[in-house]
Amino acid sequence: MPCRLSKVYTPNMRPPVLDPLFAPVSTLPGIGPKIEKLVSGLVGSQPDRDATVADLLFHIPHSLIDRRHRPGIAYSENGDIVTLDVTIGRHMAPPRHSKAPYRINAYDETGQITFVFFHPRHDWLEKTFPEGERRIVSGKVEWFNERPQMVHPDYSLKPEEAEEMPAIEPVYPLTAGLSSKTLQKAVRAAVDRVPHLPEWLNYAHLHQTGWPDFAEALKTLHAPHERNDIDPASPFMQRLAYDELLASQLALAMVRAHMRTLGGVSRSPKGELQKAVIASLPFQLTGSQAKAIEEINEDLAKPVRMLRLLQGDVGAGKTVVALAALAQVIETGAQGALMAPTEILARQHYASMLPLCEKAGIRLALMTGKDSQKERRLRQEQLDAGEIDLVVGTHALFQGTVTFRNLAMVVVDEQHRFGVHQRLALSAKGNGVDVLVMTATPIPRTLVLTGFGDMDVSRLTDKPAGRKPITTVSVSLDRLDEIIGRVGAAVADGQKVYWVCPLVEESEKIDLAAVEERHRVLEHALRQRVSLVHGRMNADEKDAAMADFKSGATKVLVATTVIEVGVDVPDATIIVIEHAERFGLAQLHQLRGRVGRGDKPSSCVLLYKGPLGETAGARLNIMRQTNDGFLIAEEDLKLRGGGEILGTRQSGTPGFRIARADEHADLMEVARDDARLILELDPDLKTKRGEALRCLLYLFGRDAAIRLLRAG
Ligand code: ADP
Ligand code: MG
Repeated sequence: MPCRLSKVYTPNMRPPVLDPLFAPVSTLPGIGPKIEKLVSGLVGSQPDRDATVADLLFHIPHSLIDRRHRPGIAYSENGDIVTLDVTIGRHMAPPRHSKAPYRINAYDETGQITFVFFHPRHDWLEKTFPEGERRIVSGKVEWFNERPQMVHPDYSLKPEEAEEMPAIEPVYPLTAGLSSKTLQKAVRAAVDRVPHLPEWLNYAHLHQTGWPDFAEALKTLHAPHERNDIDPASPFMQRLAYDELLASQLALAMVRAHMRTLGGVSRSPKGELQKAVIASLPFQLTGSQAKAIEEINEDLAKPVRMLRLLQGDVGAGKTVVALAALAQVIETGAQGALMAPTEILARQHYASMLPLCEKAGIRLALMTGKDSQKERRLRQEQLDAGEIDLVVGTHALFQGTVTFRNLAMVVVDEQHRFGVHQRLALSAKGNGVDVLVMTATPIPRTLVLTGFGDMDVSRLTDKPAGRKPITTVSVSLDRLDEIIGRVGAAVADGQKVYWVCPLVEESEKIDLAAVEERHRVLEHALRQRVSLVHGRMNADEKDAAMADFKSGATKVLVATTVIEVGVDVPDATIIVIEHAERFGLAQLHQLRGRVGRGDKPSSCVLLYKGPLGETAGARLNIMRQTNDGFLIAEEDLKLRGGGEILGTRQSGTPGFRIARADEHADLMEVARDDARLILELDPDLKTKRGEALRCLLYLFGRDAAIRLLRAG
């Protein structure tokens, strides 16, 4: 069944009522080509396309300035933003070309103030602040030598123009080179373009919640009447958050329904190959591994597609479960694919599965984006001929050109890095493809819903037997020498050590230098070769470094967070995480999970650079107190909101512009039920409400799902 998921822009399907909202931002006043780039970078929803009016409208202010505060000059406190009703006094203009500021005196009945201007334009100042006239001036007051001043007031208006100044002014997240005045003006024009849209929410639901309609919600958020209008709990924010969640849930439900209609294939092998795989393991399955395999076998036997999430803390042993699942379809003569988020992980899966596959007689191949044309062609021929049973790879696997002779199961590792589109694209390459999604991230229920929709879930709750606990300590970077000394002692004792340095995108160069420097320092101090892995190295270099560490040729591996997910060196017993204060909890937990995989006690050293902020301090404390991934995920949700859990760097919930996993969790469940009911009653979105819901899907960029509806 062909299923095109390339992001073709299909404006003809889009309801025309939305056209004004999908116009580029450059059609708004004050946005020329240069500003357009800045605005697109700031609010754009797609990296390769200019931002639209809708994108700008979803850029919600993060705070407000209340210009109703009019205490009078003498009663204005240092740092307050105030509006003053003043008479303009003397100008003290510096000589032209002088660097000195331009000062203007002004007074009201309570006292005097000085307005201060740097790089002044004399004629403009003379016009805007004419001596002896009354002006309404608004800005931030600062007290300096017991005298109030205001540097570059935000507004100076004639009394009769005072209404031009918003009583409550929205403050937007900005970017360098973009002024808030420019952005505000564009947003005001954008708000004026919001058309009257059909209501997509259920009337009873609206009535019960008292929410405004979509247009009113947007208008109010950009021109708030009250301080708390932009709070996550305000009806305006709730309305939009719900809209966004509903769009997402509806799209996921449509994808799911579509996959079901494509039909599954009932697969009931004898289970010989699965038994062979399990028998070749050098260990006993844990109870929850066995249970997960059982659940998967049941899914496979049913004539509907499997859509299962395999959730398990780091080191819980998901890979084995995946291989057992794949063995079932391979036994029937079909093919399987395992997709990993990074090159390193794909290679590692390949390496760890290879001996098991060889023993069981499964023909395994690796495909990554780094393969040469020739290698790729060869693999393709083998796939077409059915000479490969199982292929492990990276995103290269989605590429439209890769085809399978008979693909029956896709396993996606660390799913949170992939989108629904990619998942679909791969599973569309076969007939009734079963999908198993593995995640090491302990995702709370609400986030499972946002990211995955309504999937069946298997959980690996117990760790493989014999695992020793990990002791976690936090140590100030001031004690670096001492830690290096201890690492040296551990290495002399035959232990293996990970040393992790952060790589933060904004300062990639500096951090790269830092990781290389740490590598040098350690080699020097330990007087031995130390492996190094970072994102700028090519695949061969990375492989070689990892292989050395794995084999024991080197005892210490310095790495940036490329080792964050899945890397498996069971006899590594120490992990040092430098600048631990820069990492999120989920990431720290993932990193710590690199050790404690063997039968020796392990430790994790969180090296921080003080002084610690409150949140960072709390994070390190939690890490010291518990090893329980689910507990950590919940604490993380409390501390920082959902974004961090899914490993994304920006705040807010990934994939969402307005809804937030922490603030709007309750809305999520309602949206899911709403979406389910909608599709039950109106599977093709053909009713009046269905038509309105199509608008909603477009507005929040979830329209790809519309193409999955039956034609006509
Ligand atoms: P993750 O769930 O983090 O992907 P892996 O699948 O990489 O975990 O497994 C981690 C390590 O535990 C591997 O070395 C694997 O061989 C081992 N392992 C998996 N299951 C068991 C088990 N039941 N008993 C002992 N070791 C196991
Ligand atoms: Mg794994």
